[in-house]
Amino acid sequence: MYGTIFDIKQFAVFDGPGIRTTVFLKGCPLRCEWCHNPEGLSFSPQLMVSKAACTHCGRCKAICPSPSGCIVCGKCVRACPLGLRRITGKHVEAADLAAKLLKDRTYLEKQGGGVTFSGGEPTAQGEFLLETLRLLRPIHRAIETSGYCAPDLFREILSELDYVIMDIKHTDDALHRRYTGVSNQKILRNLEQLKKSGKPFRIRIPVIPGVNDSEENFRETAKLLTDTEHLDTVELLPYHQTAGAKYEMVDMDYKPSFQTDRLPNLNTAIFAEYNVPCRAI
Ligand code: SF4
Ligand code: SF4
Repeated sequence: MYGTIFDIKQFAVFDGPGIRTTVFLKGCPLRCEWCHNPEGLSFSPQLMVSKAACTHCGRCKAICPSPSGCIVCGKCVRACPLGLRRITGKHVEAADLAAKLLKDRTYLEKQGGGVTFSGGEPTAQGEFLLETLRLLRPIHRAIETSGYCAPDLFREILSELDYVIMDIKHTDDALHRRYTGVSNQKILRNLEQLKKSGKPFRIRIPVIPGVNDSEENFRETAKLLTDTEHLDTVELLPYHQTAGAKYEMVDMDYKPSFQTDRLPNLNTAIFAEYNVPCRAI
């Protein structure tokens, strides 16, 4: 079983309990306006170019066999004298990936950590994710997910996990559609499955100014999480103006429709009212 990943980060401390290795799976069905990982959106490997430092020497153009459209051959990557070009995303076999990750098992276990799958949206490569999770069974396994996943598949993935970090981006379906491109109905259904699963979990809210930082949205989110036994905490992650930095590198425009220069509301008091543990990061 093959999947496509675009990064492996060691010594991660924000992706679940302890010190972890985080694997980033490529591809996401959502299009959140604030996404800071545009190289995680496409399911295919692609070329990334740091255009700002380019001296226009022309070597990449000269060597390219496909001037009408990139075929991700990598020839220009080797030709660039400044190392400004790279291919992001590679196909890997689940067994090879698991074997590589298992090499650090002793260290990760000593640190109270494990392996986390992020993205992109890791559940969007569901079968590959499941196979890799099964092969990693001795290790503590977590995901960072939008929760946007077919409920049956989500249930199966949950059964292979020790910890879940899940986003709730907006409780209002129309606004969720407007800012992420998809409905929140599957996500809210999967949240209910997660709450009943007995797995410890953390909720993350990417707090975007004028989009989801209203008292009303915080209140509706808190209501979804009251009396939830296995909830560790809710984390409020403020929007960063640097989110758009990588779009040009993958030939995409960054044009958010919200007010990017206003600080978001990170008031945790509403969650406290509902006895929901919450902290701003
Ligand atoms: S990777 Fe570079 S050389 Fe290859 S097709 Fe794309 S632009 Fe051309
Ligand atoms: S080879 Fe590198 S420096 Fe030269 S034009 Fe291409 S990206 Fe720019």
